[in-house]
Amino acid sequence: MIISFDLDDTLIPGVKRFPTERRGIWQRLFSREKIRAGTIALMKTLKAREHRIFVYTTSYRSPAYIRRLFFSYGIFPEKIINKSLHDKTLRERAALISKYPPAFNIDVHVDDSPGVGMEGERHHFNTIIVAEDDADWGNNILRELEKKYS
Ligand SMILES: [Mg+2]
Repeated sequence: MIISFDLDDTLIPGVKRFPTERRGIWQRLFSREKIRAGTIALMKTLKAREHRIFVYTTSYRSPAYIRRLFFSYGIFPEKIINKSLHDKTLRERAALISKYPPAFNIDVHVDDSPGVGMEGERHHFNTIIVAEDDADWGNNILRELEKKYS
């Protein structure tokens, strides 16, 4: 399956606060941004289960920057969809919907926003919504993937 991940407030703390992965010199060198604790283990498990990992963000961070950020943690997302690519791909529909994973062949999209979950129901795409205070979020995603989508 292709699984995509939102960045802001899902994998990268912003308004929402959660523990982050330990950073060594390597990670500090690449970016001031931190990624959520548990991201590395989750990505490795998903890879081992032969899922494909995409990033889908409504930010304008460049794909090169996002790749470098994850690369510094040993994570290699296959495809990066930022706001520019979303707009280019969806054209006039881009303004009507914040994310549309089926346009990129994504099977399940992971996000923090209940609004994206509602869009998923309305437009028939699969989402997993992660809570800010869910310390076991990675395992909960794995459980939900097995329960609902296997
Ligand atoms: Mg978000």
